[in-house]
Formats: sequence, structure tokens, C-alpha cells
Amino acid sequence: MSSNKHVYVFGGGKADGRADMKNLLGGKGANLAEMSNIDIPVPPGFTITTEVCTMYTEKGRDQAIKTIKKEVEEGVKHIEKTMDVRFGDMKNPLLVSVRSGARISMPGMMDTVLNLGLNEDAVKGLAEKSGNERFAWDSYRRFVQMYGDVVLGMKPESKDDIDPFEKIIDEAKEKRGVKNDTELTVDDLKDLVVRFKEAVKKYTGKDFPADPWEQLWGAIEAVFGSWNNDRAIVYRKLNDIPHEWGTAVNVQAMVYGNMGDNSATGVAFTRDAATGENIFNGEYLINAQGEDVVAGIRTPQQITLEGSTRWAKLAGVDESERKASFPSLEESMPAVFKELIAVEEKLEDHYKDMQDLEFTIQDGRLWLLQTRTGKRTGAAMVRIAMEMLDEGSIDEKTALLRVEPNKLNELLHPVFDTDALAEANVVAKGLPASPGAATGRAVFFADEAEEWKARGEEVVLVRIETSPEDLAGMNAANGILTARGGMTSHAAVVARGMGKCCVSGAGTIVIDYKKRTMTVENQVIKEGDWLSLNGTTGEVIEGKVDTKDPELSGNFGQLMDLCNKYTKMGVRTNADTPHDSIVAREFGAQGIGLCRTEHMFFEGERIRAVREMILADDVEGRREALAKILPMQREDFEGIFEAMNGLPVTVRLLDPPLHEFVPHEEKNQKEMADQMGISVEKIKAKVDSLAEFNPMLGHRGCRLGNTYPEITEMQTRAIIEAALNCKARGIDARPEIMVPLIGTREELVRQERIIRETVQKVFDEKSASIEYLVGTMIEIPRAALTADKVAEVAEFFSFGTNDLTQMTFGYSRDDAGKFLPFYVDNGILPADPFQVLDQTGVGQLVEMGTQRGRSTRSDLKVGICGEHGGEPNSVKFCHKVGMNYVSCSPYRVPIARLAAAQAAIEQG
Ligand code: PEP
Ligand code: MG
Repeated sequence: MSSNKHVYVFGGGKADGRADMKNLLGGKGANLAEMSNIDIPVPPGFTITTEVCTMYTEKGRDQAIKTIKKEVEEGVKHIEKTMDVRFGDMKNPLLVSVRSGARISMPGMMDTVLNLGLNEDAVKGLAEKSGNERFAWDSYRRFVQMYGDVVLGMKPESKDDIDPFEKIIDEAKEKRGVKNDTELTVDDLKDLVVRFKEAVKKYTGKDFPADPWEQLWGAIEAVFGSWNNDRAIVYRKLNDIPHEWGTAVNVQAMVYGNMGDNSATGVAFTRDAATGENIFNGEYLINAQGEDVVAGIRTPQQITLEGSTRWAKLAGVDESERKASFPSLEESMPAVFKELIAVEEKLEDHYKDMQDLEFTIQDGRLWLLQTRTGKRTGAAMVRIAMEMLDEGSIDEKTALLRVEPNKLNELLHPVFDTDALAEANVVAKGLPASPGAATGRAVFFADEAEEWKARGEEVVLVRIETSPEDLAGMNAANGILTARGGMTSHAAVVARGMGKCCVSGAGTIVIDYKKRTMTVENQVIKEGDWLSLNGTTGEVIEGKVDTKDPELSGNFGQLMDLCNKYTKMGVRTNADTPHDSIVAREFGAQGIGLCRTEHMFFEGERIRAVREMILADDVEGRREALAKILPMQREDFEGIFEAMNGLPVTVRLLDPPLHEFVPHEEKNQKEMADQMGISVEKIKAKVDSLAEFNPMLGHRGCRLGNTYPEITEMQTRAIIEAALNCKARGIDARPEIMVPLIGTREELVRQERIIRETVQKVFDEKSASIEYLVGTMIEIPRAALTADKVAEVAEFFSFGTNDLTQMTFGYSRDDAGKFLPFYVDNGILPADPFQVLDQTGVGQLVEMGTQRGRSTRSDLKVGICGEHGGEPNSVKFCHKVGMNYVSCSPYRVPIARLAAAQAAIEQG
């Protein structure tokens, strides 16, 4: 809806707008208005609304200008009056900045013009007022240059061409025989202005506009136009910003931090953005412009004395040098510093969040140019939210909503030292599959990773892709790098489960197993070379980057306690070992939602028995081999039940296709043949017979248990015997037996019968019993569609959204890496559906499955155990459909707990 008001003034102790008018005034405009309202000194100005930008785009320039002409004139009068200056005046000229400002900041994407209002008269006024002729002429030549570029379109012709104005500057410097702009004299600058204007005339056929009004309309139009420049369009696409929003335009009186030694400019944070410590901090420079602070040419100085002494210590600067060359603002301008402290306290108190502010001191007078919510690290996010809660400035719900769940990742894994990272050489980029920082020597085979580790080496395992065979090697490695595979590839899932850093699908690296090298472009990394992985960004770094342990502060525990208070949904973990179970429990997991039993089949001696089972020609042979596995599985389960004493443990029966358990490389096949005393040919023949064209849709899941019921029998026996053994030891074991990959009710009926008969046998043998549940995974679309029938048999459902996504989209989990990144980059898909649950499609099956299941069994327990169970948006969706719990890898448990609490607050 468009209103009659198009221009909102601010400054001089009043404002038409407010902070909550971001949609109309943009973020910058709304905050400038808000600051004026609370008496913070901001240079006066006005904001032209985003609606005018839309009008400009839709109805054209003339209509837009006609609509706002009078209001803009009023706006300029407001500035003139407040500052006691006049547009184009020879004595007291008004100079303004014209800047864009969308609802969400789009840094550097749109246009800005500074020093507008300068002409042959005004430059004299500026020189006189500042007492600095050089400053005035330098401002003037900068203005002509900026205006020529932004408004008149005088840009380099191609990317190899030099900027037309820079070319003129270079010629002037050459003529003078000087290197830096600063060495040009006042006369040189005057000459530059003349030559710039000549260039403008040549390019546009018109004189450079001397009339400030003409300058102003040109600049306003340019800023509106820049909403639709290529850069801004691409940025909006990447950041999901709607094109209809439009930008506001802020016209504001210029203030100068470079008017001499009583002027300065700086940036500050009301709290420490890295640690969250409640300490005012920031940097400033005397006699400088805003960009000088961030440009890194001069060393910025600290604002507070405390910050300055801390800095000096780190920089190795002694106290006398610090005082002489790098004094704090607190020391150099004590009165302004005091004022700044009052302002920052007021701003934080008002916005009730950490603020990032920009200020300028012009001739001893403080002006605030911007305030916004400060960006911060995960650790700072938690600390600030909890401390502000303790201080009483925000309530519990606000504090919980302030923390981005994914940011907790940073707190839970080892991290790279930031200084070391700044110097690192990134050689490739893959998917940030499992967060954290890892360094080690490159090793290309899993068994060798184990050997190296046993010798005390730190290793990074580098594979084209991993398979369950590599599990022990992955466990031994500090990090895992794969050239193929997506976010739900084996490597990624297992690494997240282990809380181990992993970069997957780094497509540019070429691995040569024979030579034991990986090559990226022309760079070769050999076995034993140091490699570092940043699992949070997906970066692969050459060499050894220093890491440090994360610090889990008391604030973290406080946040988690607060989550419990609001959460309605439970959070369990996906864990296959007692160790992982303990880790997850420490993070607050309320049970195990998925124990993948196949991972246990690989350890130590048991893989041999598993292979014997696979090689067996008949049921008897299989039973014999399974009997060897039984005690080992039982022992595993006892360990897990013990770790989860009193909490439910969902154990899934064997799921992967059997070919995953047999060796595929000749060397290993031979080894296996020797161990088992049979010919290598027989092994090869068996391996060949197990090959499937599409194993993910082949002989796996409950199809194994239905064709080889003895496997289900053995696993059920191991689970129940373990539970009874635990019970005898006073441990409260709560087994839930889960059947994978069912598509029809009958598949589950058959499995359930075997399970219950076996359980009864064990109860009879042991003259003991225990409560247990039998349920199923819902990971085939047909199971979701017929969930009412399935729930007649199942006591619980767990949505396996990895397979459900695979089968609903028809994307192979193991091959989607070839096209998914392209799909996401090009907007064909909004996100990788293996990471973020596709609520529109797959989500329908989840919602329908839950409702239909509960239509026949009202107390059906429903959870999720796919990778989405630890992804905040997906967790919120699970809350919405009424799940009882989500289950995720141990290190994601806190993230899911926070997302679940937020969902309860947001959705009720
Ligand atoms: C799933 O499919 O979502 C699941 C949890 O099982 P897996 O990843 O082991 O196939
Ligand atoms: Mg599955």
C-alpha cells in the first residue's frame, strides 16, 4: 500500500520515522530516525522511501520526481535550518551524502555519492570554514570523480581498462614526479578538477552540473537505478531478497573526520563481537575519513584505554610508544570519549542488543552515522544473550530466540586459530560436511590411517569416497576429506556422528591411490604431507594450521537449561557406540533414536564372522556364523544400554546391502581368502554375485531380514539378552527394536512375528522379561502413504528422511553430488534437500504419515532420524507436525534442543 508521505526527515532532535519502519525507510534510514528520536546526535537529513524506488522502477523517473519534489525541497530546508548552512552557498555551503539503504543491508552493492553540493562557490566556502584549502579542493575533485562514475556512468570501458579519472590523476602525478595522491599540491588539485570536468564534457556532451539541485536529483536517480544493477540483482538472488522491496535513499549532511587534529572517525561495538565480553571496544583514527579505518593503510587506534593497553601487549608496542603514537580516544579526546560512552550505553539500552556503530568527530563534535545490530561469533552470541538475560534487559524467550542454532556448531568443535588461518593457503573447497578444524598428514588408505595413528602420527584420511570398510580408519583420523559424495554421503554421516571434521565432495582434487597423491590443479600433495581441513567452511588447506579447543562456557549450560524449560519435543541422538552415547548424553540427548547396528559389524574380529555368514551356502552355515557374532553384538548393546541407563534406545536391524561387508580390492580379497582358508576365486565369485545395479534400491533393509530371518533372530536375541543382563545388574534398559525400509504392512508383519517369537523364547529361557517396543522406519514413500495400515503393527515410527528424500525426489544419495550444487547455485532448488528437509514435498509425506499413523494408533510415538533431525528449520517443521522427538548426531544435539525450544516459543 502506498501512502502520501514519501520523505521522512531526521536530525536536530526530531524524526518522522522509527526503528520499526525498516520496510519503508530501509535499515539505515529507520535507525537514523530512531537515533534522532532518542536524542543521539546524528547529522540531519531525510529518507526517501522504498515505495518511491518501486514507483521509479515501474512508472519511470518523471513520475517519481514529480511525486517527491516538494517533499525533497522541504527535506533540504530542514537540513539547512538545522545546520545553519545553504545549498551552494559561498560562505556556509551545505554538503550532503546520498546513500542507498535497503531493508536488509546489501553491503557495497548499490551506489553512494559523497560531498554533493560542491561547485566553484561552495569549494571556497568549505576552504574558509575548514581553514584548509587543500582539504576543500581534494573533496571537490573526489566529488566530481564519484559523481562522474556513479551518476554519469564514466567507468572503465572494459575490465582491463583503467578508470578514466584515475588515468588523469596518474598523468598529473607523473607530471609532478610524485608517487602518492597526498603529494599533489592545492594547485594540482585545482587543475585536476578542471581536467575532470573537461573529461565529463567530452564524455557526456554537457557541462558538469554546477547547480546543487541538479546534482541532487541526478544522485537520487542514480541510487534508485542502482537497485537494478547487475551486482545488486545477483546479491538479492543469492540472499533471497525479493526484487520488489526497492531501496530507500538517505540524503544527509556531510560531517568530516578529516578536518584536522580535532577531528576523527571510528567504528565501535558495545560488546566484544568475538567473545561476547561486556566491554565497549572499537577503533578510530584522527584526521581521517571513514574508509581509512578499514582500509588498513594507517594503523587504527583503540578507543578505550583498556583496549589500547591490551592491543599494545599483543602488538609488542611498549607503553611509551603506545602513548606517543597510538593513544586511545579516551586519552586523546577525553570529553568526546565521555560523550561516546554515554551514547553507546544509551544505544544498547534502547535496542537491547549489542550494537555496531560508526561515528565521526568533526572539530571536537561527536556525530553518529550509523547503528545496527552487531554481527558476532557463536560464542559471543550465547554469552551476550545469557548476560543480557541476567542483567534483566531481555526476557527468557527473547534470549532463546537471539541465538542462531547453527552458530552453536562453532562452540562444539575444535577451531582454527584465527591468526594462523589468515595466513593459510587454501588449495580446494568441498562441502562443509562436518564442522570443526582438523590437521594431520595426508594418508590415502583407511588401514594405513590406523597404522599411522598407532605410531603416534596425526592423520587426515583422504579418499575418493569412503565405505563402511573405512570406519576404523576414519575414527583414527583427525579429519576426513573426500573427492566425491554429498552431505549425506557415508563419509559425511559417519563423520558428523563421530563429531569429526569432514570435507566431502571436493571435486577439484584428483586422487591417485597408486602414487598416493592428491593433485589440485598443478599442486601435488603426497602421502605424509600436512593438510588442514576446515569442516565449517569446506576449505582444504595446505600445511598445518594451528587449532585450539573450543571453550564451553557456563553460559552454554545456562542456555541449554533454558531450552528444557520451553521445549515440548524430545531430542535423541543417532549413536552406535557407548562412547558416542555418553557424549550425546552429556549434550542432553534424551535417548537414542537410531543405533545403526551395521557399524558394529566392522570392528575387530567380527567382520570375519560377518563375511563367513555372507559366504555361507545355506541357512545352517549362516546360523553358525551368526552364532559367533551374537555375543559381540550383545556386548555392544549392553554398553549402550548402560550408557543410556533409564532412557530409550532404538536399535535398527541390519540395513545395508551385504556387498558392503565384503572386500572389493584384490589385495584385501586375497587376505580374506587366506584367513578363511578358501580360494580367492570363491571370494571373487561371491563378491560378483552380490553386485547390484542399484544397491540402494536392492537387497537391503527389511528385505534382508525377510529373506534371511536368522539375521533378525540373532539381532533380536542380542538386544533382548543384553537388556535382560543389564536389568540383572540394576540398569534400566529400554529397548525399541526398529525394522528398516518397509514399504508394505506385510513386510513389517513378517519381521514383527520373528522379533516377538524370538523375544518370547529369550524370556522363557531366562525366566525374565522386560518392556520393549517394535516399530519401523518410514523411509519409503509407500510406507508414508499407507501409514494407517503400518501403524496397526508398528508401535512407533521413525522417519528416515535420508532415504525418504532420495526416493521422493528420485535422487541417488551417492550420486546427487554431480548435479545438486548446480541446482542450488542456479536456483532450481532452494537448498540441498539432503541437508534441509523439503517441507513442500517430502514434508507432506512426513505430515501425512504422522497423521495417518495416529489415525489407527492414537498414542503412536513419532520421531525422525534422518540427517534433518539436527537441522534447525527441519527441527521446527518436526515440531509443527507434532513429532515426539527428533534424533541427530551427538554434536548436533544442542542445536536441535535450541531449535526445538525456539519452535515451541514461535509456534506455541
Ligand atoms: C534414513 O534413511 O534417513 C536413515 C536414517 O537411514 P540411513 O541413513 O542409515 O539409510
Ligand atoms: Mg535409511
